[in-house]
Amino acid sequence: MAFELPALAYAYNALEPHIDARTMEIHHSKHHQAYVTNLNNAIAGTDAENMSIEAICSNISKYAPAVRNNGGGHFNHDLFWKVIGPNAGGEPTGELAAAIDAAFGNFDTFKQQFAAAATTRFGSGWAWLIVGADKKLAICSTPNQDNPLMDVADVKGTPLLGLDVWEHAYYLNYQNRRPDYIAAFWNVVNWNEVARRLQTA
Ligand code: MN
Repeated sequence: MAFELPALAYAYNALEPHIDARTMEIHHSKHHQAYVTNLNNAIAGTDAENMSIEAICSNISKYAPAVRNNGGGHFNHDLFWKVIGPNAGGEPTGELAAAIDAAFGNFDTFKQQFAAAATTRFGSGWAWLIVGADKKLAICSTPNQDNPLMDVADVKGTPLLGLDVWEHAYYLNYQNRRPDYIAAFWNVVNWNEVARRLQTA
């Protein structure tokens, strides 16, 4: 079963002005599509052909660099499109809000620490909110298309929220101003989806 590019649940222009339509279109239809195509090519004829993307990631050290780069790219973007959306932003509620308060003190401190992880990731990579094996929330970042599911990750856990800080995610609209993109990101976070992921982690 080959992996496929997932359709977005909203239009390319649905996240404006925070993330512009042209960036969304190229990011989804070109960048993510390339990860899917290259992943399928990289796993052809291997046991990974019949595995979930999560299972591939958790055993990533067994596979070629092309599987790590493109498998991570596929998982990460699939998550990203779902944890952002229109009519979003604001603050989490319920168990997610309580878990954030327990781990970070309060929502503003969480946002500051997450933004710092995203800002200071040198070069290309991702910032993450994860739930660890101890059931506690934590913030981490990964280089390139790595993610916290991978057995090679410095900090491991189940990703709840991810922010793509590759230049392709923001350069058309924000150029070198990564901090402005990160600030705008909070306006499109789909906290209901993040909360759902905490429930099923
Ligand atoms: Mn990307």
